[in-house]
Amino acid sequence: MLYRLHNSGYQAYLVGGCVRDLILGLHPKDFDIATNATPEQVRKLFRNCRLVGRRFRLAHVVFGREIIEVATFRGHHDSAEDERTDKVAKQDDEGMLLRDNVYGTIDEDAQRRDFTVNALYYNIADFSIIDFADGMKDIEAGVLRMIGDAPTRYREDPVRMLRAVRFATKLNMRLDDTVAKPIHELAPLLQNIPPARLFEEVLKLFTAGKGLANFEMLVDYHLFQQMFPLLKSYLAAPTEAPYQMLRQTFLDTDTRVRNDQRITPAYLFAALLWWPLQARMEQLSVESGLPPVDALNIAAADVIGRQVQTIAIPKRFSIPAREIWQLQQRMERAKGKRINSLLMHPKFRAAYDFLLLRAKTATPLEQKPLEQRAQFWTKIQENTNISPSTVAADEGKPNKKRGRRGGRRRRTKPTKKTD
Ligand code: ATP
Ligand code: MG
Repeated sequence: MLYRLHNSGYQAYLVGGCVRDLILGLHPKDFDIATNATPEQVRKLFRNCRLVGRRFRLAHVVFGREIIEVATFRGHHDSAEDERTDKVAKQDDEGMLLRDNVYGTIDEDAQRRDFTVNALYYNIADFSIIDFADGMKDIEAGVLRMIGDAPTRYREDPVRMLRAVRFATKLNMRLDDTVAKPIHELAPLLQNIPPARLFEEVLKLFTAGKGLANFEMLVDYHLFQQMFPLLKSYLAAPTEAPYQMLRQTFLDTDTRVRNDQRITPAYLFAALLWWPLQARMEQLSVESGLPPVDALNIAAADVIGRQVQTIAIPKRFSIPAREIWQLQQRMERAKGKRINSLLMHPKFRAAYDFLLLRAKTATPLEQKPLEQRAQFWTKIQENTNISPSTVAADEGKPNKKRGRRGGRRRRTKPTKKTD
């Protein structure tokens, strides 16, 4: 790919995270290429290519399962010449970049990257690394340093504050003072970031194996409070149940990532918003005497409704998060036949894990009953595993068997199909 660009007379470099990760001996998540070919020229060279991006036009070239991002060198956005073209970069009142479609040279491209360690270019023409910003020195010293004036760069794009935290934990680097200091004051600028972009950042922060470290660092820098305003009040009491639940959630998620187990943002959001949900339910039942099932439904809508103002949780995650919550009530009460139908619920496994999490991080008052309830469901499953068909038989549904993962139902007599 680099060669095809190169042989067609363009400059082409591997750039950014992948070069940094390769130098550090880490496995790059994806590969980015920077070139002086325009997106249209890239498209002409590669059949399997799509142009994407609003803030900045990029070419995505599909290689089997991988997507390689090919970006044209970006230029400065503040030169007088740019002002005269309609390709000028747009800023809002707080200095945030809204549009940034100015092409430039390789060293201009390096200048507008965020951290020095992210501005290394690997040149296949001579296998050399081009280092415009002393990134190699900072990699060796293990320090994250901003290119240019950090406060200005944060104002241009406040997400860089989140990136500083993410790279510090991922790369095991410390933040240079100039990078760390302005964050406290500028953290509120995260309010200006579109919720959909913050959702993407939340996934990168919390589902890549460094969730707990990121959580703690984000709290220290008052960034977490900006993203999850509903959780602010719990962060002041790290020994109490709500904070313990947050910690445990990140810890469990990190463990699952390490063990290559599946994780879903639905579970993560169900856990993060559990205590705000409880508070709202309590308020509703005191104020209007609503029964628990109704209180939960209204509180869930309120809590999710408030959270999506900062972080856009897609419906495909918020709906199962609500189901996990609803199942908590049902698992606390279930008797007799209800037990079996719960075991067959597609979200049973997640809800059961969630019950264990609650028991583990419960308030002293709730601990005993929750532990007992968790044990009850553990036993039921153990018994059920010995003879899975009895569950379905007891239910009076002889045609339906419980699926292996407590989910989908199978036909009892699978007919062989040749597709
Ligand atoms: P990873 O892929 O491991 O999350 P990365 O460094 O590759 O880390 P990407 O978001 O993939 O991060 O971005 C690729 C490169 O683009 C970065 O290394 C950086 O040079 C540049 N970049 C990305 N986001 C920004 C930003 N908000 N401001 C400035 N430069 C950025
Ligand atoms: Mg990357």
